[in-house]
Amino acid sequence: MKKEDKNPIMENLISLSKRRGFIFQGSEVYGGLAGTWDYGPLGVTLKNNIKKAWWKRFVDDREDMYGMDAAILMNQNVWKASGHVGGFADPLVEDKKTKKRYRADHLLEEVGVDPKGMTLDMMSQALKDKKIKSPEGNELSDVRQFNMMFKTHVGATEDESAISYLRPETAQGMFVNFKNVMDTFHPRLPFGMAQIGKAFRNEIAPRDFIFRTREFEQMEIEYFVDPRNETEVNATIDALYAEQLAFLSDIGLDSKRIHKIEIAPADRAHYSKRSIDTEFDFPFGQKELLGLAYRTDYDLKAHTEASGTDLSYFDEESKARFIPHCIEPTFGLDRLVLAVLSQAYTEDELGGEKRVYLKLSPRIAPVKVAIFPLLKNKEALTDKARELYKVLRTEIGAVEYDEAGSIGKRYRRQDEIGTPFCVTIDFETIEKDGNPVTVRDRDTGGQEKIPLKDLVSYLSQKLSS
Ligand code: ATP
Repeated sequence: MKKEDKNPIMENLISLSKRRGFIFQGSEVYGGLAGTWDYGPLGVTLKNNIKKAWWKRFVDDREDMYGMDAAILMNQNVWKASGHVGGFADPLVEDKKTKKRYRADHLLEEVGVDPKGMTLDMMSQALKDKKIKSPEGNELSDVRQFNMMFKTHVGATEDESAISYLRPETAQGMFVNFKNVMDTFHPRLPFGMAQIGKAFRNEIAPRDFIFRTREFEQMEIEYFVDPRNETEVNATIDALYAEQLAFLSDIGLDSKRIHKIEIAPADRAHYSKRSIDTEFDFPFGQKELLGLAYRTDYDLKAHTEASGTDLSYFDEESKARFIPHCIEPTFGLDRLVLAVLSQAYTEDELGGEKRVYLKLSPRIAPVKVAIFPLLKNKEALTDKARELYKVLRTEIGAVEYDEAGSIGKRYRRQDEIGTPFCVTIDFETIEKDGNPVTVRDRDTGGQEKIPLKDLVSYLSQKLSS
């Protein structure tokens, strides 16, 4: 574990994630690979539930959005035209003795200096003024830029023409398919393209668990608008920002932990005319969760010029031809998983005992309901519980059956993975009129007797509220 992960909440969260099968260290049996994490059975389900909620809100429920899944490897000219080969870089310093590299902006932030808007020279000077040494206590070099793209070769030869990159963002896969979507679906402006997929950045300082990794997933939208009506463009930016917030509420994030940050012109990406970051109160501080950038016609224009393919739009009404402008809401999926897990992690006392539970929204909880027979050696109970398990798997989905250990222990196990409801089949269920089952609520620990015939509608209503 890294120094910066020594935050008690983060330590508990990382340990719970591993213990309960959410997230494991990448390549763990070989000692790991820095900046990579593997999602286990519960982690991938949680992540998929967030993806599904996103796809539903931004693609399925809208008439103006086109889903995509572009290849990760792309022609190297895509990255030349987009500006990534020349400029996708972080400011770095090198420990003169160990040759290890560190993010200059992070070192400055650690001593309370805000590096926003600083040039490389200004950062070098600030490091000198503050007499900052490397974490090992050695002298540091001047600040330099370092390209963050992973380079590879496609095919058998390793010459210049075979160079390709693992994409550092999913966005470009959509810009280069703009014409394909136009030609096949003939959408009218405004319309958007949406994609979920892996992105790779050779981050020099991966840190804070899944917050900053070298391989991560993005959910991005490129929304194309008519640039001639500035009022409409601004209204669309506001509407897309509001949708970003609405999505965060869909997955249960607390609005009090969410902060809107308008990025100053000097700190925006080179392609952006306006940027709004959404920051979240993580256990290690308020940090970027999502972004929104007004990319103007930067990308379509750059690809038109570099590829020679016309990526303009013809407006039938005004008979005008122009390159649409693009507004990009972007979401880091792993950061959303971390936000959700860190907000959900709760310690309290129940029945005089300490407990740890994940207060996940039922919508994204990896297991919705757990079914227990009171005793595992009474066939009448286990048969009934298994029968109910089958029904609920069809009706509710994501249901777990557990007969191991005391009921108390089973509750605790489900609490730790964030299961909203546990249902126990006991002797009353098989002997009494109405076949009552005991439904136990994760958050309050409260229990209710519900007639078996009403269980599906009771749970469906609770899970969707
Ligand atoms: P940061 O300033 O934190 O490096 P960024 O501004 O470079 O992030 P963008 O290029 O806007 O990030 O990428 C869009 C989204 O992708 C971010 O809002 C974030 O959620 C996610 N993201 C970016 N880099 C990483 C990373 N290394 N690990 C995990 N998620 C990331």
